[in-house]
Amino acid sequence: MAVHTVSLTIRMVGDTQVDNITKSVADALAGSNLKAGIVTVFVKHTTASVMIIEDEPGIRADTKTFWDRLVPPDPRWQHNIVNLGEENGHSHLRGQLQGPSVTIPFTDGVLLLGIWQRIVVVDFDTRARMRELVVQVLGE
Ligand code: ZN
Repeated sequence: MAVHTVSLTIRMVGDTQVDNITKSVADALAGSNLKAGIVTVFVKHTTASVMIIEDEPGIRADTKTFWDRLVPPDPRWQHNIVNLGEENGHSHLRGQLQGPSVTIPFTDGVLLLGIWQRIVVVDFDTRARMRELVVQVLGE
């Protein structure tokens, strides 16, 4: 059993922006030289999430609409009231609900994604930021 860890840094603009990182994850897996195991993709922030989606423009638009309806921006979120100047209470709640990571199995050095499945990071925050992710390959 071996572990191979790669860090990714991505500039994102927030507002439920979706960034497809599937190729970066596949590159990290290739760099590990491992043949079978699991890959964990983890974002190191409380206002962003990693998820698996079908990546096409309609789904991207629907993803934003879905989160805006489910957890809307609201000045009454306590995070915005207690932390003067913060306006991203909804961003934190979305991150809590979706979670920071996904795990994908691989064999023969290839991610076992379904034909339409893509790995994306979604930034729920209200301003542009640099986002740090960890891709950790565990296998043999
Ligand atoms: Zn905040």
